[in-house]
Amino acid sequence: MALKEHRNLRIIANEMISMRFMLRTLAALALLLTTSPARSQIVDGSMDVHWNDGAEDCKASPQPPIQIHAYNPQTFILRENLCYTFEAPFIYLLAGSTKALLIDTGDVADPNQMPLAKTVMHLLGDGSRSPALLVVHTHRHLDHRAGDGQFAHLANVQVVGFDIDSVRRYYNFPDWPNGLAQIDLGDRTVDVIPTPGHNETEVSFFDRNTGLFFSGDFLMPARLLIDDTDADIDSAKRVAEFVNDRQVSFVLGGHIELDAAGETFPWGSQYHPKEHVLQMTKGDLLALPAAISSFNGFYTNTGKFILMNSMRILIAEAILAAAVLVSVTWILVAYIRRRRRARSLRAQTQT
Ligand SMILES: [Zn+2]
Ligand SMILES: [Zn+2]
Repeated sequence: MALKEHRNLRIIANEMISMRFMLRTLAALALLLTTSPARSQIVDGSMDVHWNDGAEDCKASPQPPIQIHAYNPQTFILRENLCYTFEAPFIYLLAGSTKALLIDTGDVADPNQMPLAKTVMHLLGDGSRSPALLVVHTHRHLDHRAGDGQFAHLANVQVVGFDIDSVRRYYNFPDWPNGLAQIDLGDRTVDVIPTPGHNETEVSFFDRNTGLFFSGDFLMPARLLIDDTDADIDSAKRVAEFVNDRQVSFVLGGHIELDAAGETFPWGSQYHPKEHVLQMTKGDLLALPAAISSFNGFYTNTGKFILMNSMRILIAEAILAAAVLVSVTWILVAYIRRRRRARSLRAQTQT
């Protein structure tokens, strides 16, 4: 009996030791999780920048073609000046230990007007020390790839194609738009997330190093033009799920078309006084699925987002213009007929 009790006590003691071990292991795991690299090793940067306003009279006030903001020593935000293109797109350069990544090439092809390649290569450190450069696009619209030609024949530079087949093939998306891809820059990994909707080729990029989310024309402080609403809703949900448990420092898009009060600048304006800041937030990304779900298919201003289908608006405007033309013609024809009738009546009474 005593022997049995002793054995039971030993079993209980062993169980208590193993429980304590389990608890200690759990506590260590929890500590490890709360201090995981994804949360604690985000490299900081600064968005303290005033973007060039452009000008009311660009000829009278000459502007530098490209504005460069160093977010940190390895991350650059470039913007093409409003006076050179009213699109004034943003271009992003991320330098890693073995490779650098250029996201988009802007709206101006001519290197004499817009020396983009020269500027980028200079930022990377000219000569043999500069890393290989990979040029990618958020999507195929010309204002994001017009500068491709400047990079086409440079040594150590690869330009990824902008059509849907090239995008799918390069990132290896067999089940597009599902799945994720990664770009390896050495000490820096960038996730690629398919985000079609604005355009069928659109992808967004997430830099694990800085926590920056590059959203192209999918999300930006501007008119959000949506070609395919269903695809856009799916993309917004995909992105919300992706960022949900990740630390996002800033969301950086392709353009700014709003002023600080959230009003749009006139379409095509080359002067943006008191412009809205470029950066948006993880909260904005998380709010996007509900906002796009409320889109009426033509034009919806949710207060935070301005959603538009420019093609449908154009068709509606064309139908309206045609209707006005038909009405005016009908009124004119009726007027001419009435005048003729009146003239012939007058002629009859005179004879
Ligand atoms: Zn676009
Ligand atoms: Zn654009």
